[in-house]
Amino acid sequence: MTRADDLAANLDVVRRRIAEACAASGRDPAEVTLVVVTKNFWASDVRLLADLGVTDVGENRHQEAQVKAAECADLSLTWHFIGGLQSNKAAAVASYADVVESVDRTKLVDGLQRGAHDRSHHVDCLVQVSLDPPDASDSRAGVTPDRLDEVAAAIEEAGRLRLRGLMAVAPQGEEPAEAFARLASIRSSFLGGHPDATWLSAGMSADLEEAVAAGATHVRIGSAVLGPRPAIK
Ligand SMILES: *Cc1c(COP(=O)(O)O)cnc(C)c1O
Repeated sequence: MTRADDLAANLDVVRRRIAEACAASGRDPAEVTLVVVTKNFWASDVRLLADLGVTDVGENRHQEAQVKAAECADLSLTWHFIGGLQSNKAAAVASYADVVESVDRTKLVDGLQRGAHDRSHHVDCLVQVSLDPPDASDSRAGVTPDRLDEVAAAIEEAGRLRLRGLMAVAPQGEEPAEAFARLASIRSSFLGGHPDATWLSAGMSADLEEAVAAGATHVRIGSAVLGPRPAIK
């Protein structure tokens, strides 16, 4: 099997999982965008994925993402930045990322806005919400639900950024279905104040079914498509 055959077979499985999860909750699979997370993998894989019909790719480290996006500039892909973001890198990220999913503080907004300034289109932004209990020791990134509106408002006021919705990662040590049920309720009150922010990015290789059941519009899938991640790119 060539790498292209492998990726094609894996993509088939993932697309079928998404379709089945949609069927199980009465959703249209067209509502769910597959974002293939290509972190740690080579630009050559990104090219194969584009050939196989993948439209959206995700990266979590700025330097790696910047190089790869430049190497693949001839492909019409939508680049999602899904990693922790330092304020001093925000402008650079917004210069190539089409969607920044990990906006988790107002401090990032100025930089993102500056980076978005020379783009031909708005840069789509998701606010990353933390699903951790407030006293979690290994707390993952994200804004606590009570501060979502503050970050959302900063994005809405920026001008070159477009608030699209929310992103979350299921915390370790909890059933993903439980965490995503909480996310669905956070999202429904968030939509009350931001009715156009309809995107919900949730679900990874291990928990995409639970995320689709909870209303995810974007799933971020790495290893189920690309295989185990090599340690060093
Ligand atoms: C790496 C990563 C993914 C993909 O994880 P897999 O388990 O390989 O599917 C999804 N979301 C984020 C934020 C990630 O960093």
